[in-house]
Amino acid sequence: PPALLLDGITKTYKSKAGAVDALRGVTYHFQRGSYTAVMGPSGSGKSTLLQCAAGLDKPSTGAVVLNGIPLHGLNEVALTKLRREQMGFVFQAYNLLPSLTVYDNVALPLRLTGKRPRRTDVHDVLRQVGLEDKAKRRPAELSGGQQQRVAIARALITQPAVFFADEPTGALDSTTSRQVLELLRTATDRSGQTVVMVTHDPVAAAYADRVLFLSDGVVAGSLDRGTPQQIA
Ligand code: ADP
Ligand code: ADP
Repeated sequence: PPALLLDGITKTYKSKAGAVDALRGVTYHFQRGSYTAVMGPSGSGKSTLLQCAAGLDKPSTGAVVLNGIPLHGLNEVALTKLRREQMGFVFQAYNLLPSLTVYDNVALPLRLTGKRPRRTDVHDVLRQVGLEDKAKRRPAELSGGQQQRVAIARALITQPAVFFADEPTGALDSTTSRQVLELLRTATDRSGQTVVMVTHDPVAAAYADRVLFLSDGVVAGSLDRGTPQQIA
């Protein structure tokens, strides 16, 4: 099966002001080892797509299937377990815990799955993101770019099947952006992990194998490494 399949998902937000159809039938396969940038104008449904794909929100209709497992068939406990074991999150707000050291922030996802982090594994991922010497620091002592790299190390530690990245370069300077994008690139090239990245940044999109364009809650087209394809 594909690493991630969105099968006809829709999402309607209901409020007193009325209903908003944020996604109006999105079907898409994310192959294992692919790196996809999701682009589109503000309000086109990118965040909603990412939230649904990552099981953080439920689509109104349709299915999200991760490595053959339909998320709607899981209860909250099983979904949380699957998320912790198979998904990595790199969001713009780094969500690091300020009271913990860099080392403990990175080790946390393993501890949450009941595993005892091996010191060498934590140091390996810190080395991958170039922060081996910061293990004992706390997030507030690091620059924004360094904090983002800690967040990536934390996502790498569980070797997730799929990385979800929401504007991962939004708050970074161009040098740090490139480092972060290359780390995600390496995850797909070296380990066959799958990256789904929402971005406005054309530089970020250039690191992807494929760009998925959303417009008004539907897939308006996709672009494969420079070759225009299946423009709807
Ligand atoms: P994008 O990430 O592309 O900017 P979003 O997925 O955030 O798009 O939003 C898609 C549409 O859904 C927009 O019209 C937005 O206003 C609406 N929307 C998003 N989240 C909510 C929510 N929690 N409640 C109501 N409407 C929402
Ligand atoms: P534990 O099983 O409690 O994690 P450890 O000996 O692995 O025991 O680590 C104890 C604490 O020491 C960790 O929670 C962490 O704060 C810190 N620590 C361990 N190894 C390192 C390291 N190489 N660099 C920085 N801090 C470390």
